[in-house]
Amino acid sequence: MGIARRYEAVREEVAHVAVDAGRDPDEVLLLAVSKTVGLEGVADAVSAGARDLGENRPEQLIEKHGAFPDVRWHFIGNIQSRRIKDIVPCAALIHSLYREEHARKIDAKAAEIDKVQEVLLEVNVSGEESKSGLAPEDVRAMLDLCISLPNVRVRGLMTMAPQGDEEVARETFAGLKALQGDLREHLVDTDPHAAAVFDQLSMGMSEDWPEAIEEGSTIVRIGRAIFSDDFSN
Ligand SMILES: *Cc1c(COP(=O)(O)O)cnc(C)c1O
Repeated sequence: MGIARRYEAVREEVAHVAVDAGRDPDEVLLLAVSKTVGLEGVADAVSAGARDLGENRPEQLIEKHGAFPDVRWHFIGNIQSRRIKDIVPCAALIHSLYREEHARKIDAKAAEIDKVQEVLLEVNVSGEESKSGLAPEDVRAMLDLCISLPNVRVRGLMTMAPQGDEEVARETFAGLKALQGDLREHLVDTDPHAAAVFDQLSMGMSEDWPEAIEEGSTIVRIGRAIFSDDFSN
């Protein structure tokens, strides 16, 4: 099976799992993470209907955005300060923001190009040393800072679950959903407009996306299950 067929199969499965979980399938975005393939692989996914694609390296983001300007490109990788000027013009949504200094730079670059940059705050729910992101107790302060920046719009939260244990993944996702609920209540009191757009949860990858959808994910970030011909789950 090639990329286009795998994309279609994953899209159908995502819709089924959403329906089985009692959710509206239109509430769950399939983000195709094309970081392991080149422009031909991207073209295959686009031909199958992919409109949202994700990259974790600025160079690849720039190249693929240039070749496919109508795709909504998502930046899901580690943010380096000096690359913010390159990321902001290309990214519809940045999933991986967790440092104040980066939030301020994103705001400044977005203002310069007359854009409001949509972002998600990355949270290290599981507390694994190897994972980046905000500690759950630090998210509220970061959210308040971001909301004060006129050219940044926080759309929600993102996390990565520890691999290899379905139950731990599920707890991680449920933890992010609960945190979103708490933060939304806080926002409803302080900034109702910000509360209204704080509605996205980016969670779930090739190995754990069904659990993520069951726990409330609105964006699943799927790479290998679409782009690799030897992935099996
Ligand atoms: C690579 C990557 C993914 C996709 O992972 P797969 O296991 O290939 O589905 C999702 N999110 C982030 C942040 C990634 O770097």
